Amino acid sequence: MLTVNAYAATAATDPLVPTAIERRDLGPHDVLIEIKYAGICHSDIHTARGDWGPAAYPLVPGHEIAGIVAEVGAAVTRHAVGDRVGVGCMVDSCRECDNCRQGEEQYCVPGNTLTYGSVGADGEVTQGGYSTHIVVTEDFVVTIPDGIALDVAAPLLCAGITTYSPLRHWGAGPGKQVAVVGLGGLGHMAVKIAHAMGAEVTVLSQSLRKRDDGLRLGADHYHATSDPQTFKTLTRRFDLIVNTVSAPIDVDRHLRLLALDGALVNVGAPAEPMTLNVFSLLAGRRSYAGSMIGGIRETQEMLDFCAEHGIGAEIELIDADRINEAWERVLASDVRYRFVIDAATFTER
Ligand SMILES: [Zn+2]
Ligand SMILES: [Zn+2]
Repeated sequence: MLTVNAYAATAATDPLVPTAIERRDLGPHDVLIEIKYAGICHSDIHTARGDWGPAAYPLVPGHEIAGIVAEVGAAVTRHAVGDRVGVGCMVDSCRECDNCRQGEEQYCVPGNTLTYGSVGADGEVTQGGYSTHIVVTEDFVVTIPDGIALDVAAPLLCAGITTYSPLRHWGAGPGKQVAVVGLGGLGHMAVKIAHAMGAEVTVLSQSLRKRDDGLRLGADHYHATSDPQTFKTLTRRFDLIVNTVSAPIDVDRHLRLLALDGALVNVGAPAEPMTLNVFSLLAGRRSYAGSMIGGIRETQEMLDFCAEHGIGAEIELIDADRINEAWERVLASDVRYRFVIDAATFTER
């Protein structure tokens, strides 16, 4: 066992506190990663606060992990000591179901092992990236190409793949009209990636407050959803709308912005149910769909794509003692566009 410094939630309502946790001894296929940076994802907060169901405490969140391989098990072939690597939302899956066999481990039928708050193969609850080290089986560790700095790479492991996967699946590219709803942690990645894929990109945001940022990040157009004229101007415009907002939206209004065969895809996950009028789908053979992160192979593809196109997240780097403040700012949508924790500051208390 390796005892490492970490930050943990100890109850749904309390701030995170510095702590020490144990990482398992290296099995033959395990990789020990010295974490350099960990992104703060909205899911960390939802999970720690019990919004998505009861959590097991203490809980060390963090599933946007970038670091360096410190040690490898005897049978590891995919990674070597000193490699730049990342870990996202999953650390294992059944590997045998149809979805796993297709490389879609995020949709593992019996259920995959999440990076934190899941019960792993060893029966222990997994603990995430708000710590100095993590042990992960080699197949769930991806390579971060030299072209991306580790701090701006960390958020790609969740926010990057969450937006890359639906953009690829629904064919974003030259000649396609793509809209991104919401310009936050997910949205800003969707804009950068869709732009790099060659699509014409429109941001649909509540206000025009972040318009300059949106255009700088690669958007061609920027519209406020608070302006009713937006929904008139953009009727039947888009082939794909990626909705990154994790609060309910007016689904029908957004569906009517889709061209023939267009798809509205949710990657944000509102806790409340949403309703829609089926006529909004019928009129234009439209689809309303969802998408959740991406498989390991696709995550590697996304990192390679981002390196090739010089894409990283826009980040605000913080020390560990500012995590609680950062969480409050995430909840207030006061971040441009991702907090990343410097893991060197997980010092002993
Ligand atoms: Zn996440
Ligand atoms: Zn499976």
